Amino acid sequence: MSKEKSKKSVYLFGDRKADGDASMKNLLGGKGANLAEMNLIGVPVPPGFTITTEICTVYNTEGRDKAVNLIKKDVEEGIRFIEKIMGTSFGDKTNPCLVSVRSGSRASMPGMMDTILNLGLNDDAVQGLIKKTGNERFVWDSYRRFVQMYGDVVLGMKPASKEDVDPFEEIIEKMKEEKKVELDTDLSPSDLKELVTRFKKAVKKVTKKDFPDDPWEQLWGSVMAVFDSWMNDRAIFYRKLNNIPEEWGTAVNVQAMVFGNMGLTSATGVAFTRDASTGENLFNGEYLINAQGEDVVAGIRTPQQITKEGSIRWAKLANVTEKDRKANFPSLEEAMPALYKELYDTQKKLESHYRDMQDLEFTIQEGKLWLLQTRSGKRAGGAMVSIAMDMFNEKMIDAETALLRIEPARLEELLHPVFDKDAIKKANVIAKGLPASPGAATGQIVFHADEAENQAKDGKKLILVRIETSPEDLKGMNVAQGILTARGGMTSHAAVVARGMGKCCVSGAGSLRIDYKTRTLVVDKKTYKEGDWISLNGTTGEVYEGKIATKDPELSGDFGKLMDLADKHSRMLVRTNADTPHDAQVARAFGAKGIGLCRTEHMFFEGERIKAMREMILANDEAGRRKALEKLLPMQRSDFEGIFEAMHDLPVTVRLLDPPLHEFVPHEEANQKEMAKEMGITVADVKAKVNELHEFNPMLGHRGCRLGNTYPEISEMQARAIIEAALNLKKKGIRAIPEIMIPLTGTLEEMKMQEKIVRETATKVFAERKDTIDYLVGTMIEIPRAALIADRIAESAEFFSFGTNDLTQMTFGYSRDDAGKFLPVYLEKGILKHDPFQVLDREGVGQLVQMATLRGRMTRPHLKVGICGEHGGEPSSVEFCHSVGMNYVSCSPFRVPIARLAASQAAIKEAAELKAEKKSDKKSDKKDKIKGSKKAIKKADKKEKKADKKKKK
Ligand code: PEP
Ligand code: MG
Repeated sequence: MSKEKSKKSVYLFGDRKADGDASMKNLLGGKGANLAEMNLIGVPVPPGFTITTEICTVYNTEGRDKAVNLIKKDVEEGIRFIEKIMGTSFGDKTNPCLVSVRSGSRASMPGMMDTILNLGLNDDAVQGLIKKTGNERFVWDSYRRFVQMYGDVVLGMKPASKEDVDPFEEIIEKMKEEKKVELDTDLSPSDLKELVTRFKKAVKKVTKKDFPDDPWEQLWGSVMAVFDSWMNDRAIFYRKLNNIPEEWGTAVNVQAMVFGNMGLTSATGVAFTRDASTGENLFNGEYLINAQGEDVVAGIRTPQQITKEGSIRWAKLANVTEKDRKANFPSLEEAMPALYKELYDTQKKLESHYRDMQDLEFTIQEGKLWLLQTRSGKRAGGAMVSIAMDMFNEKMIDAETALLRIEPARLEELLHPVFDKDAIKKANVIAKGLPASPGAATGQIVFHADEAENQAKDGKKLILVRIETSPEDLKGMNVAQGILTARGGMTSHAAVVARGMGKCCVSGAGSLRIDYKTRTLVVDKKTYKEGDWISLNGTTGEVYEGKIATKDPELSGDFGKLMDLADKHSRMLVRTNADTPHDAQVARAFGAKGIGLCRTEHMFFEGERIKAMREMILANDEAGRRKALEKLLPMQRSDFEGIFEAMHDLPVTVRLLDPPLHEFVPHEEANQKEMAKEMGITVADVKAKVNELHEFNPMLGHRGCRLGNTYPEISEMQARAIIEAALNLKKKGIRAIPEIMIPLTGTLEEMKMQEKIVRETATKVFAERKDTIDYLVGTMIEIPRAALIADRIAESAEFFSFGTNDLTQMTFGYSRDDAGKFLPVYLEKGILKHDPFQVLDREGVGQLVQMATLRGRMTRPHLKVGICGEHGGEPSSVEFCHSVGMNYVSCSPFRVPIARLAASQAAIKEAAELKAEKKSDKKSDKKDKIKGSKKAIKKADKKEKKADKKKKK
């Protein structure tokens, strides 16, 4: 086995040796890299080989022939390698070599791509296997499974839609009817043999070709089918959902088959080294005796628990008595104690080797344990936090690793509402299932995934209820609030996918009788129809009738500790965008260190305020406006008092009025009539004013500081309200730190004029009150021109806050309000990688942000710089803000924890990069020194002279 790591296309593994290792995920895919690594650390793995992801790319870009040519010899060598270790021979009559062909990309995509098992079987090999195992039933069952799988996956006989029936399933059902049996397992070996014949006939009928008996033809067909499955709809959708690039491609793993269905000393299962749902440090998983791997996750048979403790817990939830449990559903620990011990030790070894929670697949073949896969297990958001903090406390990982382990966006799950404690007490539990993925969900029942997609478009909240789910249901699961299944355990498709999505899921609620045709769900003789409301508690496994009230979650326990750890590693602070004392309090509880944007216009819409605001807008001259503004002043002042109090001792950036005035007047006739009545004027007057305010392009019109500069009295009133509020609080011993922000600045003169109004007003109020407070005057940078002349703007502005919503709008020239018409198409066609209104465009907008920060600080070295556009809560944008040296990011209250974590990750990554750079600098210094040494110079001289001589000759 060669140790050369570059430019191979096929990597062998087996017998505790491997060409690859865990670091080669990009080339070997996660599964292939870990199969290699497991060999290297002495875990029993059936031998095999991995075809690299690069070959998948060749296949996709240059076609099948090119890909096959590149790997033909190596694949043949790979099969010989398996044969040698297993002592078997491909297609052999007496001792056939059987293999599995599985996908495996860099990032795990559970169930999205295709797999072929039992490959190598044909009419000869079947005889050999029967002789070898003496188990006719097992062999024919394996053969019929292989023909079915190959027919579905490679020969394209899988039904296109859910409504169509799988031709092979139809044949099985017919056979069961003929034989008058209920279960597949009741079919005799000769029935299974007959099934193979019928399956092959069906293949011939549909494909017009015989089923391939040559194992090599089977192998190449399967390898190409797995490559093809990289581009199937499910995989494409999953990649989009998880931001996995199409260029990555999938590797293909060809591996010797081991069988969990060789009788009562064989078994197969899936296990997690810790609880993927809660994070509890408890080895757990499910297995089935005499079964193949797919049986455990397909949700067709009820899987048994691996540990005794898990089994007892399961029995309680499933209402199974201890006697029944012991007799019919014993744990692996009880049923096969020695193998359990071996599995337990192996999982410990794997977890401490990878220093992360592992998700394992294993098979026991006639008393021998084999590991088929290990990978970092997908986990619920809460479990992600608990596992990272536990491993940090156990000193298994350091703080930096713990913080980098958490995907910031997954924290959102911990911020979802939870059921209100009082409401839940009164709720009626109608069923209990397994707590497969935590959270609280309330919605209307829907039974089909495509139906869920349709109904979700109308904004409906849905619970997808299914007997079991399959990868086809992915889109429906994605739009539902929660998922409920009647079958399947904690490792079922529904459970694993829901946890990956952060979606609440209750699985295996056995008392549900679901009828897809009548679209009904019957529990305890009560029928629920599609559209009826139910609620799920994914943390306890309870299913409730009707809607249940929810409340906001709290930041406590491991989550709180993680946030503290994040702050210790961050440089940037996180503020919040909040316009009310309530939002300010919520954000503060989530760790916000101030308000980065208080949009004052939101305060003008409520009750009496809008009337005064309209009066101001309708006024024909300054005196009229001032009269109306006088009414608004006390209201604004008290709003600010509330907000400043909630954010006491922390800075609050208050932005002066920004939106175009037409937003404050009614545009519909009925509302215009009402306004006329309220204000004692005619409808015609209202209409005339509305027309006067009409702008063709209001977002580029009379808004932002253009308002304050044309109607200075508005800025004056707002500045007065802010300063008076701060002084009022000061009297009560509460410290307010206002930062007054001018919106939409484009020229220095605009800024200066606004600054003058604010400062003169403040001076006046200080004199009136005979007291002062500290405050700053700064600006938003949201017009490209302001970014270009930031050094000038900083002559007046004491701080910058990037309004990246408008800055993106104006840099791209995409209207914020109309981009929805073309952005989805742009994303679909790959013209844009991300929606620039969500993920900050580093290439363009980012340049302006970076330049403005630098230029601003050329004028004012300690200029405070932050961001308050929507990007302030988006992890990759937060990373960018860190890289340009911002002081803070500001985001909506519920994104504060996400931004805090993202800020720490940015700092950690930057420190690691700096360290790596220093190291490589040292290395090249050393090289230079060696290069410059006398000995090296002499050597180089000699070489040169020699070359000269040669030339002369
Ligand atoms: C911005 O433009 O980024 C911003 C925060 O202001 P608004 O969204 O209110 O225009
Ligand atoms: Mg703006």
